[in-house]
Amino acid sequence: MGSRLPPLLGALIAALAATGAAAAPPADCTYAIHVDTALVLDGTLTCVPGVTGFTVVEPATDLYLDLDWAEGETATTGRFRLDLGTFAAKENDRDSAQRLGRSVLATGGAWLLRPLGVLPATIDVTVTTDPGVTFATGLARHGAGYRLSSADLRFAGYSAFGKVDVHPMPYRDSDGNPAQVDLAILDGDLDLPREDIVAWARDSLDAAVAFWHGLPAPRVMVALLPRPGRGGVPFGRVMSGGGVSVMVLVGQHATPRDLADDWVFIHEMIHVGQPFVRDGMWFTEGQATYLEPLIRVRWKRQTEADMWREFVTRMPGGVAVIERTGMQHGGWRGMYYGGAVLMMLADITLRRASQGRIGVENCFRGAGRELGPSSSRHSLRALVEACDRAVGSPVMAEVVARYGMQAGTLDLEAIWRDLGVAWDGTTLTLDDTAPLAWVRRSMIRGGPDPKES
Ligand SMILES: [Zn+2]
Repeated sequence: MGSRLPPLLGALIAALAATGAAAAPPADCTYAIHVDTALVLDGTLTCVPGVTGFTVVEPATDLYLDLDWAEGETATTGRFRLDLGTFAAKENDRDSAQRLGRSVLATGGAWLLRPLGVLPATIDVTVTTDPGVTFATGLARHGAGYRLSSADLRFAGYSAFGKVDVHPMPYRDSDGNPAQVDLAILDGDLDLPREDIVAWARDSLDAAVAFWHGLPAPRVMVALLPRPGRGGVPFGRVMSGGGVSVMVLVGQHATPRDLADDWVFIHEMIHVGQPFVRDGMWFTEGQATYLEPLIRVRWKRQTEADMWREFVTRMPGGVAVIERTGMQHGGWRGMYYGGAVLMMLADITLRRASQGRIGVENCFRGAGRELGPSSSRHSLRALVEACDRAVGSPVMAEVVARYGMQAGTLDLEAIWRDLGVAWDGTTLTLDDTAPLAWVRRSMIRGGPDPKES
């Protein structure tokens, strides 16, 4: 059909199509980076004339970097060479770069330079590799590469380089749009077959996606790091500046039982669904600490009694912080279970007021949809307000004001009695005749979003 158009009209349509493809404004900087088999990065930097130079984000980067730049009339250009493989082997730091056999996991701040003079600057990054070298990243896709803001570099997410197995896993977001997890397994020995590791990761993702009613971000990279000499799943962390990424350590000697009992992966996936809140770590850790055991009960990974045993034995330490200072001034100690107590209080209050139809999960789902996943940054106040808007009542604001921002007394024993949770130090029993046993059952079952029913 195109060949029958008059030449001028054809050219006009072609020009319009080209404009449409380039709808996003051009970036202030373009970084073209090549990774060789020694995991040395060679980069060409091209920026708008206002850029006056480049600097490292992580101080350690400087030790392994050669950098030159020049300011020209039409562009500021530079070249760099970063020995990321040696950097990762020598520093071996979770906050910058870690070496695992023939692979490296690095935060964006370890290998991407910050342009100076334009604040914030948008940066387009393309990465090419030698044959046999894999690159996987949590950075947000843009065209054939990735785009981020220099403001996100300090917390920029993880990328994996070298000998890395990447398993793309398609999901849907909460609006039904295609979304994807890239599971990236770094180099290292694991006793279990890779299929078992991948199946466990997929099952954990399925549980989290079912809870969030969709993958909370269009793309997520989950990096699995084999940990020599260790068992279990010892550690996880989310880093999401410029795009969502998660790191989970898997012990070399992890057993099927360890994976079935793991809580770390799901804990991190709860963080993925909420914005990053710098002034309320206790709140986000409380969310993950409260929801993770609940999700594992719903997903049949553990029993309801397992969950209450954990809460009954661990939450008193959190209440001590609530009663001494309130969570906002409590520091690290008691942060996880103190925060979880307040999430449980909000959950009970919401379910009592709605005959069990609405719980704290509706509050968090709404906040995630409004404010974005872990790649967005907000204040605690904004998160609490969005949470309350989603359920139409200021329950979370009241809980935070009463027990978060100041010391408050809280009778945990009365809560257990009302819910019908009894713990004698050895055995946990559940009493379905307790006055709020129906609330407990509704917490475990979950409920439909009123907007969806
Ligand atoms: Zn956490």
